[in-house]
Amino acid sequence: MNIVVCVKQVPGTTEVKINKETNTIIREGVEAIINPFDTYAVEEGLRVKGQTSGRVTVISMGIPSVAGLLKETISLGVDEAVLLSDRAFAGSDSLATSYALSMGIKKLGEYDLIICGKQATDGDTAQVGPGLAEKLGIPHTTYVRKIEEIRLGYIRCQRMTEDGYEVIEMPLPAVITVVKEINEPRLPSLKGMMRAKKAQVAIWTADDIKADKNLCGLNGSPTKVIKTFVPEHNIVSEMIEGTPDEQSKKLADKLLSMQFMKCN
Ligand SMILES: Cc1cc2nc3c(=O)[nH]c(=O)nc-3n(C[C@H](O)[C@H](O)[C@H](O)COP(=O)(O)OP(=O)(O)OC[C@H]3O[C@@H](n4cnc5c(N)ncnc54)[C@H](O)[C@@H]3O)c2cc1C
Repeated sequence: MNIVVCVKQVPGTTEVKINKETNTIIREGVEAIINPFDTYAVEEGLRVKGQTSGRVTVISMGIPSVAGLLKETISLGVDEAVLLSDRAFAGSDSLATSYALSMGIKKLGEYDLIICGKQATDGDTAQVGPGLAEKLGIPHTTYVRKIEEIRLGYIRCQRMTEDGYEVIEMPLPAVITVVKEINEPRLPSLKGMMRAKKAQVAIWTADDIKADKNLCGLNGSPTKVIKTFVPEHNIVSEMIEGTPDEQSKKLADKLLSMQFMKCN
């Protein structure tokens, strides 16, 4: 079975700083990591390979240095890593990202299962998995917490919902996006690290994947970022002194006076 896992590089912090003049994320000095949800996607790909035999390929769209991160996945047991990198991809929104990835996956050849993380911790839209499935014209399901059965042409999995889970059956090829409950990612082995050191990451341009440049990058992005900002938290705390009875009375009085002020 041929499994493709989509992996995105994200900043290794949730405290993102924004350049107020250009409205872009300041990436200098920020450690880059594999999107945490994608580590579960890689692990699931390797587990499915273990059950069914076949190959696991990781694919990413990003800047050239992402190749180094993709090598980390080779140390875990991934067979091949491909990076889509070209100025034509710069400024892609989730639609243009889905398109570029779909063209890269088409160039890879036959595939049975495509696994994405639930969402990226920076862009956070959770749109790329479903967008990719639409571009490839195949079914998808999101928030997968368990693959119950998988064989050529068929998958049955559990999809997490707010109050439980749904069982979804789909024909393959298909796309799934996974949540962290699905598995426990492995650590690299020494042999894997040695293999990764020697491995080559293929770097493909827009021309290599025969992508229409009008559908890539800013040209292919119907959404426009007008403004980005980090929300400011101006919370002032006040300690209420006294016994528990006195504290609860003072708190009730405070809340009542606030309510009174609002009504007037
Ligand atoms: C107008 C606009 C301009 C933008 N310009 C830039 C820019 O210049 N530079 C920039 O870095 N970002 C830019 N972004 C953000 C970028 O579009 C998103 O990061 C990207 O579309 C992926 O969306 P997401 O992060 O919400 O991923 P999600 O949809 O939340 O990701 C879900 C899953 O999809 C897969 N995935 C997502 N992105 C990739 C990827 N690149 N490669 C492989 N797999 C992936 C992963 O498996 C991931 O877990 C821009 C966004 C907009 C709207």
